Amino acid sequence: MAENDLMPIGRVAQWFGMRVPALRFYEEQGLLTTRRRNGRRHFDRNDLLRLALVRTYVEGGMLSLDEVKELVATEPTTDARLLAERHVSVLREHASSAAAALRLLRHHIDHDLPDQLSCPRCAEELRDRLARFTRRRGHE
Ligand SMILES: [Zn+2]
Repeated sequence: MAENDLMPIGRVAQWFGMRVPALRFYEEQGLLTTRRRNGRRHFDRNDLLRLALVRTYVEGGMLSLDEVKELVATEPTTDARLLAERHVSVLREHASSAAAALRLLRHHIDHDLPDQLSCPRCAEELRDRLARFTRRRGHE
């Protein structure tokens, strides 16, 4: 789309796999902005970029809507910065777990051993995961 094109809300909802009322709710909550044309909500390029930011935080960020609201506020606050800094370590841990799950699932698909525990590569991965779990709970 060109820089000054306006996209109707229905099309935007389709692109993002959302329903129109959900986008209206986001706007009511101050998470995004739209502009009216012929009385109907439309998104310009910046509105879409802002929505992409909100959806990324909601889908991949493990953040509540209130936290997202704080992070995307146009007036940045100290609290928002602290929240962002705290959340980086939460997401790093989550990304590490997701990466391990992905490796184990891929191996599940690839190898024909009946039991993943008897597979040397999976067992090594699981020993590492076990060490992380016990460290986290302070049992070491
Ligand atoms: Zn394996």
